Amino acid sequence: MPFATTPFHWHKPILTHPARTPIVQREKRWALGNYGATGVMTSRRLRLRIIRFYAAVFLVCAGNPMKVLVAVKRVVDYNVKIRVKSDQTGVETANVKMSMNPFDEIAVEQAVRMREAGTAEEVIAVSMGPSQSQETIRTALAMGADRGILLETDDELQPLAVAKLMRAIVDKENPNLVIVGKQAIDDDSNQTGQMLAALLGWAQGTFASELKFNGETVNCTREVDGGLETLALKMPAVITTDLRLNEPRYASLPNIMKAKKKPIDTMSPSDLGVDTAPRLTTLNVTEPAGREAGVIVDSVAELVEKLKNEAKVI
Ligand code: AMP
Repeated sequence: MPFATTPFHWHKPILTHPARTPIVQREKRWALGNYGATGVMTSRRLRLRIIRFYAAVFLVCAGNPMKVLVAVKRVVDYNVKIRVKSDQTGVETANVKMSMNPFDEIAVEQAVRMREAGTAEEVIAVSMGPSQSQETIRTALAMGADRGILLETDDELQPLAVAKLMRAIVDKENPNLVIVGKQAIDDDSNQTGQMLAALLGWAQGTFASELKFNGETVNCTREVDGGLETLALKMPAVITTDLRLNEPRYASLPNIMKAKKKPIDTMSPSDLGVDTAPRLTTLNVTEPAGREAGVIVDSVAELVEKLKNEAKVI
C-alpha cells in the first residue's frame, strides 16, 4: 500500500513512499470524495458507495454467466426406417446412418443461444457410448459448444447408468444448468433427466418449450395436457427439452472446421467409479403390426356405413 492513512486524514494522505506513489492514484483518491475534519462521511462519498453496492448486486444477480452441460446421444438418424434384428434382440445399427438425437440438438441450440446472449459463459457437450459418439460431440461443437466430454464404452447404457455418469460429471464440472433431451428416439425412455435431477437433488423443468433466465432463477414453460404451465426453478437445475423450445441451427462449414480444433476429453465409466450394469432385461423387440391398405369411399354415407359395419367403431 503506498498510502498510510486514517479516516481523519483522507484530505491529506501521508505518503510512506512518495517516489513510488503514482500521481494518478493520488488524484483518484482525492476525486472519490472526502471525510470532514470530524471523520463523518460526506454525502458525495456515501452516494458513490451506494452506487457501487447496487452495481455489485446487479452484476451478481443479472450478469453472473453460467456453465451449461448438455447431453448429446448418438442414435439412428430420424429419417432412417428402423429395422429389427432377425434374432429380435434389438434394432439394426450396422451400416445405418447415425446422428445426434433431435431433442439433444434442441438442447445444444438452447445452450449456445444462452452463451451468445451472455447468460452462459461455457457450453460443454457430453456423450456416452462407442468411440463414434465423438462425431456427435463434434456436431455439438460445430453448432457452438466450447468443449466436449466423451465417456467411451461399448456396453449398453440404460437411463439410470447415464444419469449416474452425468452426476459424476456434474460433480467434476460444477455446472449451473444441465440440459438433456426429453427422450432419446431410440429407447424412448424419457427417464434420464428426471433421474439425474433426483440423484443431484436439483430442481427439474421437464418438456421445456420456453426458458427465461432471471438471476438465480429460470422460468420454465412446459406443455401440459391442460395448456401451458410455468415453473420458477432455482438454479442449479436440470432441464429437458421439448420440440417447440427452438429450431436448431445447421452448422456452417467454417464452424465444422473450427470444431475439429476444440478439445474433447475422453474417459471411461470406470474412471468415474460408476457402476453401469444394466438393471433391465430386454425380452424381445418386434416390429409393429403392419397396417392394412386403406380404401377410398365415394360418399359420406358409404364412409359411415363402413365405420359402422366393417370397422365397428361407431
Ligand atoms: P432417455 O431417458 O433415454 O429417453 O434419454 C433422455 C436424454 O438423456 C437424451 O435426449 C439425452 O440428452 C440424454 N442421454 C441419454 N442417453 C445418453 C447417452 N448415451 N449419451 C448422452 N446423453 C444421453
